[in-house]
Formats: sequence, structure tokens, C-alpha cells
Amino acid sequence: MSARKPSFVVDAMLGNVARKLRLLGYDSKYDSSIEDPVLIRLADGQKRIIVTKDENLVKNAEKMGITTVLIRGDDEIEQIVQIATKLGLSNFIIDTNSSRCVNCNGKIEAIDKIRIMNKVPPRIYERQEKFWSCRDCKKIYWEGTHLIKIQEFVQMLNQRLR
Ligand SMILES: [Zn+2]
Repeated sequence: MSARKPSFVVDAMLGNVARKLRLLGYDSKYDSSIEDPVLIRLADGQKRIIVTKDENLVKNAEKMGITTVLIRGDDEIEQIVQIATKLGLSNFIIDTNSSRCVNCNGKIEAIDKIRIMNKVPPRIYERQEKFWSCRDCKKIYWEGTHLIKIQEFVQMLNQRLR
């Protein structure tokens, strides 16, 4: 799976899906104001898979030979299950070394604690040992309740895919 990891471009209505895909380590372009023609051009030019709820967009994209995933419903796990089923993906993991920034899709890398001293709340700085930073937007990540929730999400996801 890692050799040919698919990349995505996600329709404007599905920001939550884009954030999940990024956490799972998938390169996923997303912009809340992205228009269909731009989406199709990105998918075509960069061999990205379109993720959308829009049946017309799916029809238009498939005419051009672009792979699409049509999302149905609002259940967040079910949405990722639909993507996994269509593309044959399974055994998702959260690996902070390959996760993408939920904000901007940038690559995340481990950063020395000392370098973020005044950039996170003191309470967090005292309690946490491991930090990561986005190469592009510089957002700082740390282990904690957010990551624990994501791990639970991935566990439920993998159970549904079994
Ligand atoms: Zn970022």
C-alpha cells in the first residue's frame, strides 16, 4: 500500500473527510471554496482521486477517465469506509511520521521540544514530550486527547473493514 499510496482532491463540502485522510497520511487537496473545474483539473493533472457527494461531478470526471469516490451520508466512519471499499484500502494506522497537516496538507515532522517552548501553552509544554510541526504552515501537534480520539476512530474504522 505504501508504494502506491493514492492521493486525493476532496470536494468543498467534505472538509471533515479531507482532515481524516490527511491524518491517515494521504495527500489530500482541499479548499472550502474549490470549484468543480479546478477540482477536475487537479485530479487530471496530478492523478488525484476525486472524493465528492456530487453525482454530476462524478459523471463528468469519469468521462475523462478520472477515478472518483461518491460519498453518501454524513456518518464520518462510513464515509471513510466508502473510500476504503472503493479503492481496496485496509488496515489504517495513524503514524505521526507520515500524517499530513489537517490545516494545509503539508508534511509533518518531529521537532525538538526546546524549539517550541513559547509556541504552545505552558500546561501542554510541561505535560507533553513529543511534538511535531507542519513544514508549511508551522502548526504544532502533540500527543493528547485529540490523538487518542483519532486512534479510537481508526480502530472503529478497521473493525468495520474486517
Ligand atoms: Zn500545515
